[in-house]
Amino acid sequence: MSASLNLAQMQAIHHTHGPSLVLAGAGSGKTRVITHKIAHLIQQGLLPQRIAAITFTNKAAAEMRERARQLIGRSAKDVLIATFHALGVRLLREDGHTLGLKPQFSILDSDDVLGILKDCASTTDTATARQWQWAISLWKNNGWNAATALAQARDDDEQLMARIMQRYEERLTAYQSVDFDDLVGLPLQLLRDHPDVRERWQQRLGHVLVDEYQDTNATQYELLKLLVGERGHFTAVGDDDQSIYGWRGATLDNLRKLPQDYPDLRVIKLEQNYRSTSAILRAANHVIQSNPKLFPKTLFSELGEGEPVRIIDADTEEHEAERAVARIQSLRAASNPPPAWKDFAILYRANHQAKPLEKALRRANIPYKVSGGTSFFDRSEIKDLCAWFRLWSNPDDDPAFLRAIAAPRRGIGHQSLAQLGEFATRHKTSLFASLFNQMLPAAINARALAGLLEFGRQLNDLQHRASHTQGADDAARFLSDWLAEIGYEAFLRDQSDTDAQANARWNNVLEFCDWMAERAGGRPDPAIAHLISERKSLLEVAQTIALLSTISEREKEQDMVTLSTLHASKGLEWPHVILASVTEGVLPFQPGSADSPLDEADDPEAAARIHEERRLMYVGITRAQRTLAVSWTKRRKKGRDIITARPSRFIAEMQLDTQTAKENPRDKLRALREEFARKAQQAAG
Ligand code: ATP
Ligand code: MG
Repeated sequence: MSASLNLAQMQAIHHTHGPSLVLAGAGSGKTRVITHKIAHLIQQGLLPQRIAAITFTNKAAAEMRERARQLIGRSAKDVLIATFHALGVRLLREDGHTLGLKPQFSILDSDDVLGILKDCASTTDTATARQWQWAISLWKNNGWNAATALAQARDDDEQLMARIMQRYEERLTAYQSVDFDDLVGLPLQLLRDHPDVRERWQQRLGHVLVDEYQDTNATQYELLKLLVGERGHFTAVGDDDQSIYGWRGATLDNLRKLPQDYPDLRVIKLEQNYRSTSAILRAANHVIQSNPKLFPKTLFSELGEGEPVRIIDADTEEHEAERAVARIQSLRAASNPPPAWKDFAILYRANHQAKPLEKALRRANIPYKVSGGTSFFDRSEIKDLCAWFRLWSNPDDDPAFLRAIAAPRRGIGHQSLAQLGEFATRHKTSLFASLFNQMLPAAINARALAGLLEFGRQLNDLQHRASHTQGADDAARFLSDWLAEIGYEAFLRDQSDTDAQANARWNNVLEFCDWMAERAGGRPDPAIAHLISERKSLLEVAQTIALLSTISEREKEQDMVTLSTLHASKGLEWPHVILASVTEGVLPFQPGSADSPLDEADDPEAAARIHEERRLMYVGITRAQRTLAVSWTKRRKKGRDIITARPSRFIAEMQLDTQTAKENPRDKLRALREEFARKAQQAAG
């Protein structure tokens, strides 16, 4: 173990009693400290189930679980490795009943929340509802509920908002549902207000480790404090220069507070970067130097100077995409054996920037995946199926009820559903429970009632059968019967514009069902190994999936170029990275309304924004291991206009040698010629 750890990393790993903070720059092995510390703690005799490691994304959790498995074998599966949200699910499943939540509560996704908010405020305006959603989320992340919001409201607008939040809270209680923010907020409330539960969890967890600590928000920090108690056996690792989620409520105060809240905090700094060449690291260090220093750090690499960082000047986004593709092709042609597709990543500031890149990659027949984009679980056909699963677990889940009853449609009109909704609101019950209310026949027309009751019967029957499947084959048979019974394929074909689309969607459904059946057969999937690792009935799998679907992205490891936002690239690394559209106004991002470039000199608010954008640039640069290219465009979109643009200030800040930095299109020709020569040689010999 020691062969691959330096002295400072060893110190961090051996400090097992009391609180410690590893504060260090990118690629210095912070995440590696966490995985090795898990192994060390277990070697020291701490039971795996008494260790919790908290990661920033589900993907990072899956990766960490895999690394831990390589280090310690099977017992890794008992370590609780999860995001704050998934940890919250665990806490609420076991102890949520203390708050009046049943174990099979539902988790609402963002669309569900939006729908409920529109309903609460009797509006159809999505933009406004989104603003409310955003505001309520920020309030919740601040530890506020509707009562606090009402008490704190300073004007009519805030009063109105607080009332909407109140109605929203009532709905969620009736639906036995929680939203994403509740997954941290409710566990916090649980541990804060219930000392017995708190003590049990503190006894149970012998050590808690947190990766990407700089991006935790206020409620997450409070939750952490309650989990570790006064003894504070925890390890936090982070880098203030990589704090990029300020807009979502993350706060560097959590870093400042740590030494105050834990006076015996051991702070350990790591200085060697093991990821990038010196040329790349130097560019990163130069850029971040322009930000005010919270904690001074130094970072060096021993991987050699490496290739110079390249600048690509492109005319438009389309041209930029072509140049990026050309670069990938020439890098592949230039070495033997060529790097794999998965060794490349193109990173950008905002999701919509993927479009031109996707087009160019597709034209060149290069396999790619867009990470952080639409996940498998976001596809509407998968959401339909999950709505049924959610209902099997929690029939009171109204958003799932409304989705399932319309997929496929069964001739129950909007008006009848509205009547059912009014009835349920009046009687303060869920839609499903209303079906069995003796007063319902008086409130709704007979034909609609018959349809509704038939739906209720079908649901009960399917749920019963799903709970009795045994093994993978049985589960697969049931799923296919179920799809036939509800007529889902025909519905899907009816809903699709083209045959090709219908086929693709139906394939997704089949793939998903296969995957479910395999889980029921007990074949583990690393992404959810902590939730399912043995044979279960299909109902139990569905219940787990229903929880998972809203908190997880399902990804297969494939040989593909990665397209990703800078935000979603955090913590990851690739041999070859291209940062696209590092154009002033795009990165740093300049809101559409601002005319002149953001000036950090005399506007503190603009300065804070630029600092966060600069950290984003720093994150981007430091993802690269061997080569880095940074491209910008001479023209860019602004609203509907195309305007002349300049390279981002961050490009100058990298302080590159302009002689070597310009990428020469002739490089590509040369590379192609070399590849041709190689192939000719192979063919000849
Ligand atoms: P980030 O700030 O981007 O999250 P990090 O500090 O978490 O980075 P890691 O991802 O843990 O850094 O490590 C970066 C790379 O360096 C990984 O490929 C890791 O395997 C490697 N590495 C870390 N420590 C060592 C070491 N002591 N010896 C050799 N390689 C190491
Ligand atoms: Mg890391």
